[in-house]
Amino acid sequence: MAEIAVYATDLHGEVRDYERLLEAGSGRNVRAVIIGGDISPFLTAIGDIAIYQREFMEFYLIPRLKEFRRKTKKDVFIMMGNDDLKVNLDILEKGEKSGAFKLLDMKAQPLGDIFVAGYSHINEAPFLLKDWEKEEDEIAKDLKKLSGMSDPKKTVYIMHAPPLGTGLDVIFNGEHVGSRAIRKFIEEKQPLLTLHGHIHESPQMTGVWKEVIGKTISSNPGKGSILVFDIHDLKVMEILPR
Ligand SMILES: [Zn+2]
Repeated sequence: MAEIAVYATDLHGEVRDYERLLEAGSGRNVRAVIIGGDISPFLTAIGDIAIYQREFMEFYLIPRLKEFRRKTKKDVFIMMGNDDLKVNLDILEKGEKSGAFKLLDMKAQPLGDIFVAGYSHINEAPFLLKDWEKEEDEIAKDLKKLSGMSDPKKTVYIMHAPPLGTGLDVIFNGEHVGSRAIRKFIEEKQPLLTLHGHIHESPQMTGVWKEVIGKTISSNPGKGSILVFDIHDLKVMEILPR
């Protein structure tokens, strides 16, 4: 029987998008729900963003995912992105301890006979929050470490930033803004699959949500769209647009 995973990224606190993802994640064949970075509200925040994001996770996201896990027994994986304030990481760690989900950043978590590993940091960009920015050589060092935690050929990497110079990293003005180190990592390690986000508009700009880099499939489904894939047969992959 097929074992399906559903992935969405850049949900930015949109409850409707979370509910849609969990609905898709409730299917009988679904084994895992994977939530990429930029999980909490940002642009809609009024007042203190850190408190607003904390309350979103504390009062909606964590209890909701806990309930979902209890009801469905599916695996849930999640990590922060550049718009999620690091100061609130403790609340996610508490959520992990309570059994609501497994955290991904700089970790490789088992999923059946494969792994799901995550990387939240992005290459330097002209965005407001600097919590999760790093220079390319620092990213390269982190990815080297991460790639030692599981066999890349058996690992799905959730990396918030997309690889540079692909159909997955194009902003509204046509510029490529992805990470050079992430691209190099994919070229050299040839992971099973890499899933990205961060550049919300890239699929609209390029008409592409999936790329092949050597033997690796990489995807950025765009903000809020759901990527559905068979964890044992990546030829079976589709996108449910937002
Ligand atoms: Zn985002």
